[in-house]
Amino acid sequence: MAVRRIAILGSTGSIGVNTLEVIRAHPELFKVVALTAAKQIDRLADQCTEFKPLIAVVADEAGASRLSKLLLARNITTRVLFGPKALITAITESDCDTVMAAIVGAAGLVPTLTAAHAGKRVLLANKESLVMAGDLFMQAMHSGGGELLPIDSEHNAIFQCLPEHFSKLPKAHHGVEELWLTASGGPFRNTPIADLSRITPEQACAHPNWVMGRKISVDSATMMNKGLEVIEAYWLFGLPLEKIKVLIHPQSVVHSMVRYRDGSVLAQMGQPDMRTPIAYGLAWPDRIDAGVVPLSLNQMANLNFSEPDLTQFPCLALAFAAAKAGGTAPTVLNAANEIAVAAFLDEGLPYLQIPQIVEKTLNQIEVLAASSLELILELDAQARIIAKNCIREKQI
Ligand code: NAD
Ligand code: MG
Repeated sequence: MAVRRIAILGSTGSIGVNTLEVIRAHPELFKVVALTAAKQIDRLADQCTEFKPLIAVVADEAGASRLSKLLLARNITTRVLFGPKALITAITESDCDTVMAAIVGAAGLVPTLTAAHAGKRVLLANKESLVMAGDLFMQAMHSGGGELLPIDSEHNAIFQCLPEHFSKLPKAHHGVEELWLTASGGPFRNTPIADLSRITPEQACAHPNWVMGRKISVDSATMMNKGLEVIEAYWLFGLPLEKIKVLIHPQSVVHSMVRYRDGSVLAQMGQPDMRTPIAYGLAWPDRIDAGVVPLSLNQMANLNFSEPDLTQFPCLALAFAAAKAGGTAPTVLNAANEIAVAAFLDEGLPYLQIPQIVEKTLNQIEVLAASSLELILELDAQARIIAKNCIREKQI
């Protein structure tokens, strides 16, 4: 395998750090050419010192100046840039062939689209790109001619369980009847709704099986994450929505499944450790050591599966409704959810009000065809304003 040149968008986050861990173990296979982060300058400086990328990007000028000073003192010649446009430069001027899209939230959309248009191998962790602009994104991948490898563990599992030529035969679906996305149910799977009113950010972020960034951890607790993943699966695999099912599976061992016409169900199993899907994406179609502890099924008492209760998880119901409405509804759902989750994490919006803010925002914006990036970004901005107003009204 030729050495792959990797750009990591969001290198200081949970996925970014795990990606560098896999890369660190295989210096003969991968060369890091660009790293980007928003605010964690010290961590990014350490990453640049170790991996010596050509380009590093941070959110603002103050961060860039601090990073430049740190790197100068260490004799590291990485070019330091800042701001959203520099994320595009990191892709276009680093001569990368592979982009790990691991920025959290809507901020990941434009750079991920750039990677798609440029024909890169896109390792897609930033599910929000597909939720906000699935049609445009898949078109960009198609016209760019690169490879799209899902990193989200469920979609990576499904990708592994589909026939190799599946994506080239979208209409035939090759005997695939249903996709079953598994969900742990998060930390509050069995908590009575009445007890959820005083949940703190720390409790919501304490996922029973996975260690992740704070936003996706809250999304996992509300199960908005699984709703976003249904939309992600819809765009990635091209099956009708009614063929994409969600199953609660508290052990997080089966990462998802594909049910075939002949009665076969293929599952991908593994530890709840993102290094497995990351290693798969980095090395595909080869397999490399991901540094993950082997799975030992005989140490497991049970694997359980059940249907989710939509009254316990109103965010999941909202996501299903937005997926069904189509057009810009998922864009609005995603934006309102980002605002509500940020307010829960930072400003004490009560946990149970997250779905209320999302629902109110969805009700105030007409669903349009998601016809252009400009329109999508405009609706994203509109939804953020409306969601913030809804939060303010609640707090008065
Ligand atoms: P995180 O919060 O740990 O890291 C986010 C990264 O994005 C950081 O490097 C941060 O600096 C950067 N970032 C944040 N805001 C930015 C902005 N405005 N501009 C530029 N960079 C910005 O998040 P994470 O858990 O690593 O998740 C990253 C993405 O991967 C999310 O879309 C998430 O849904 C997806 N994902 C994560 C996991 C997981 O296990 N963590 C699993 C599946 C999918
Ligand atoms: Mg997932």
